[in-house]
Amino acid sequence: MNIKALHFDMKAVIPKLDHALEMIDIFAAQGFNTIILEFEDKFPFEATRGFHHPAAWSKDDFRSLAQHCKERNIEIVPLMQSIGHLDYLLKYPAFQHLRDGGAMGTTYQWCLALEASYELWQKMTDEILEIFPDTKIFHIGADECRMREPCQRCGENKLDFYIKRVARCVEYIQSKNMKAVIWDDVFRKYGIEQFKRLPSGVVCCVWLYREIDWQYLEKIAGMDIELWGASSLQANKNNYVMNPHEIKMDNVDDWGRIHPKYPRFTGHIATLWGRNQCLSPYNTNLTQAVLMTAYSGKTLTDGLIADRKEFINSYGRDFFGVDLDYFTMIRYFNYEPAIAGKVLAELCEKALYHRSIAEILQAFNKMDELLDYMDMCFSNNQASLASYRNGGSPPELTGNWADGVRIAAERCEKLYNDLTPVITRYFYKNQWDELWEQHFAARLEQNQYWGKVIEEAKQKWQHNLQQAAGQTSENLQK
Ligand SMILES: [Zn+2]
Repeated sequence: MNIKALHFDMKAVIPKLDHALEMIDIFAAQGFNTIILEFEDKFPFEATRGFHHPAAWSKDDFRSLAQHCKERNIEIVPLMQSIGHLDYLLKYPAFQHLRDGGAMGTTYQWCLALEASYELWQKMTDEILEIFPDTKIFHIGADECRMREPCQRCGENKLDFYIKRVARCVEYIQSKNMKAVIWDDVFRKYGIEQFKRLPSGVVCCVWLYREIDWQYLEKIAGMDIELWGASSLQANKNNYVMNPHEIKMDNVDDWGRIHPKYPRFTGHIATLWGRNQCLSPYNTNLTQAVLMTAYSGKTLTDGLIADRKEFINSYGRDFFGVDLDYFTMIRYFNYEPAIAGKVLAELCEKALYHRSIAEILQAFNKMDELLDYMDMCFSNNQASLASYRNGGSPPELTGNWADGVRIAAERCEKLYNDLTPVITRYFYKNQWDELWEQHFAARLEQNQYWGKVIEEAKQKWQHNLQQAAGQTSENLQK
């Protein structure tokens, strides 16, 4: 495999430069030789000045990243979306004239009938290339094009507009002596023969993250095009902070079986989606996926891993310098964070190397421990609602869950204060606050709601008790 790429999706909670460089060293040691750098609103584009995320990196930060990668023989493949996934720009009224479907249309993709949308893409691409002048391969995205968006300008036949636009972007990239890469899914959906309408030499990146469609693989591997594969290293469950790991190891394993079967694949991208869309909640980030990237890097280098438990435990031992049950830890990320937390507590105490990574994992997992506690309280309250309302919950029950409400509120306040100095050492404060609010703002409101319901349940119980006492004394008097 020539290209062993890891996806650095800047939609995510992004590391500060120093921490990013630390992570690059780790990924290089794990076997990756390429970084797919997806900028979104974290690049200070002149063409869209004033519309960057406050955590955007400076041009000098990107230059430092480029230099650091170069010294470690890591190639950077910039990714600039050419069709959709553009909410980060189109959500602003200043760009509504570019939306597919007009000003009231979608913020997801721009209209491909507009020359201005191509011009902006080209300007942004040029700005990226100015910072990364050594670029040999450039990814133009082009996945998940929405074909049914009603639009007076490009009308019904969007596939035609899509092919022409992709071809034009590919030609532009190729005119600069670079290789162009695109995602495969539009062709998977609308017929891979459409691919022949693109300029030759374009690399088609096949992403299959769940079920493997072997029939499709057989078909596309039979075509005379260069292919890359793509796995996904993150899943999202319950919107917790840590992601379930084992289910994604299954996907890495699947690709460990695909690659030896189809030598036409010359590269692979291990994707790590920081969030599904730039307007959706955060999903994962480079640091929290460090054991998944190890698993993926090893598979890309040496092929399918025979014993994942053995691999993770021995990787953890080498990486942190302590012999612990890392596999149990990752198994319980997201599912039962308190169990993962026990291993992490020991790790943070004993780690000889990469203690900062252990500390970050522990911080995120602590958020999950609290989310798990609150969700446990909430689900008990939900199941008890009818009983609360008819006054059927005795004081020992309502007292218990009233304690839950109080404890949850206290723990939230304490955890935010405890974690802020840890997290902000490696990540930006504004993104840390976003991450915190996405997980806790709604839960804190819900917590208050349950506090009120439980208080009423206590009164209802007392009221029922008094009524019953009244009836008993009436009966006795009779
Ligand atoms: Zn249109």
